[in-house]
Amino acid sequence: MSTFLFDQIIFGPVKSRRLGHSLGVNLLPNNSKLCNYNCVYCECGWTPNAKSEKPKLHARHEVSTALKTKLADFKIRNNPIDSITFAGNGEPTIHPDFPGIIDDTIEIRNTYFPEARIAVLSNSSRIHIPKIFDALMKVDDNILKLDSAIPNTNRLMNQPKGEFDIERIIEYMIKFESKFVLQTMFLKGNFQGEGFDNTRETEIKAWIELIKKVKPRMVMIYTIARDTAHNDLEKIPLETLNEIARMVEEKGFKVQVSG
Ligand code: SF4
Repeated sequence: MSTFLFDQIIFGPVKSRRLGHSLGVNLLPNNSKLCNYNCVYCECGWTPNAKSEKPKLHARHEVSTALKTKLADFKIRNNPIDSITFAGNGEPTIHPDFPGIIDDTIEIRNTYFPEARIAVLSNSSRIHIPKIFDALMKVDDNILKLDSAIPNTNRLMNQPKGEFDIERIIEYMIKFESKFVLQTMFLKGNFQGEGFDNTRETEIKAWIELIKKVKPRMVMIYTIARDTAHNDLEKIPLETLNEIARMVEEKGFKVQVSG
């Protein structure tokens, strides 16, 4: 296993099939993961146990300074970006100043590259918190993960810390009124003696019913592409992903596949 952690606030830009020429923002600590999930497929490795000392998060002003400096430099070089993406070493909405940072980012983006989109990749666990919900409503690409409609599969794949309330996640996804993208990782594997495969017929049936209920403006499906926290995982072939995409398209939803 050779997973990867970001060592700075701003990273990239990276060429992303989903988000174009994308500049990344890591709100979590440098070189250390902070997440309320512990996904078996996480590219940042396993989530460390809570430490006695508080993890050092980047301060709001540090994030805005770093972003301004980078975008000003890109502007001078005439090197435009397509998107600013909040991802990095864990769950970005955990940052206590996440809403303020989103406001700053919108302002900075409008100054330097008003055409660029702002994207947030979130695991959906905190969308019921009003200030998080409101902040996500302001971004162009509110990308919310939900890997299965069956809670036991989520438990196996995502290893959430604390409660995992799928009904609450569904309720709040509906409240976004289609202003979000649903992101689902497909894979097979075994973890601690239990097997899972969210491409099984029962899984896909329940997941499509969930899509019909929450009505995302788009669905992004993908499978593992790099090293993951846990080794005993199986990538899903592109043909299977395309077949799943076809079933979603049949229901009238747009789908993007990354194999
Ligand atoms: S939610 Fe994202 S960052 Fe957190 S453990 Fe899962 S894949 Fe990693």
